[in-house]
Amino acid sequence: LLGADGTVASTVFAEMTALAQRTGAINLGQGFPDVDGPATVKHAAIRAIEDGHNQYPPGPGILELRNAVASHQYRHYGLDPDPETEVLVTTGATEALAATILALAGPGDDVVTLEPFYDAHAACIALAGANHVTVPLVPGADRFRLDLDALRVAVTDRTRLIIVNSPHNPTGTVLDLDELDAIAAGARRHDAVVVTDEVYEHLTFDDARHVPIATLPGMRQRTIAISSAGKTFSFTGWKIGWLHGPEPLVTAVRTVKQFLTYTSGAPFQPAIADALSDDETPRALADSLAARRDVLCAGLVRAGFDVVVPQGTYFVIADGAPLGFEDGTALCRELPVLAGVVAVPVSAFCTPGSTTARTLVSRVRFTFVKRPEVLHEAVGRLSRLG
Ligand code: PMP
Ligand code: GLN
Repeated sequence: LLGADGTVASTVFAEMTALAQRTGAINLGQGFPDVDGPATVKHAAIRAIEDGHNQYPPGPGILELRNAVASHQYRHYGLDPDPETEVLVTTGATEALAATILALAGPGDDVVTLEPFYDAHAACIALAGANHVTVPLVPGADRFRLDLDALRVAVTDRTRLIIVNSPHNPTGTVLDLDELDAIAAGARRHDAVVVTDEVYEHLTFDDARHVPIATLPGMRQRTIAISSAGKTFSFTGWKIGWLHGPEPLVTAVRTVKQFLTYTSGAPFQPAIADALSDDETPRALADSLAARRDVLCAGLVRAGFDVVVPQGTYFVIADGAPLGFEDGTALCRELPVLAGVVAVPVSAFCTPGSTTARTLVSRVRFTFVKRPEVLHEAVGRLSRLG
């Protein structure tokens, strides 16, 4: 977790946002919307502050929000966690991941992730002192696919956790039933717990549909499912997340959460509890994101990049090799000057020196969760690269 010179390294997202601020480039690096979520939800938080929701809420989260999470899971997926014992409110999905991994894995345990992986997955595995094992997502013409042979080799009796992320950051892949079945079979065979990061659950496009792995046979009792209001309702700065799973696992995670943050943002919890009954806002966001994805992908292709069109999330991966950019990290450093745009190298989501890091070395990630006029300006600028 330290930089090469022993100083604390900042995340690639913070670094790229700082680069955008320094150079005035358009920030298509860090994934956050440039339009806030619904005014009604903002007003609910303001009202909650005025109504005195300003001291420590209950450690597991207010019951109203835990009920809303349980009802959301039932409505969308037929899952029925008990709000009293099987749901925990967290400070974003980030804390849910940290508390889960710290509670359930330690030295001597293997923790399997997909590769590329979201940076916090790897950092939390390192904090837990566990061993990080990865399974490649391999780029194809239509999407990135899980390497099922590599999965069979990676999951063993040493595997304590398998961390799934679908819809997947950074590839935009939505895992299909065959892939989810293979992961579930590995978890059952080797008695591993699945931790599933579903923060983009509602942000899927075209025919892609998110299937929670907890709905597969035998998986409810061995899955911790994690999500967050940040992505679904465009309030990434509010840091209200949650998880659910079987009581013994959730109890272990709650024990760790007590000593990470104790509780999570009081006035935001009732506001998100209200928001969670609204299925229209996430649906409208997914539709508008699909259109913005199309603007960015078409612009990237016109500029000379190869793209794998994402099925979900905020992100698309583009390959700079056809333009002569063989190193995505170097491209991201030069892009603000060459084109006035900031992106993130895919190598930041890979184990340094891994096969996947080498395979994806020339690829960079762009976000399209920006207003259409910003995306049009960005693709205009990128067309200068050719
Ligand atoms: N998981 C993934 C895959 C993400 O992309 C992100 C970033 N937004 C998070 C977790 C963190 O979510 P939160 O902001 O709710 O902590
Ligand atoms: N999840 C966002 C992304 O992938 C950023 C979150 C962060 O800055 N840690 O870009």
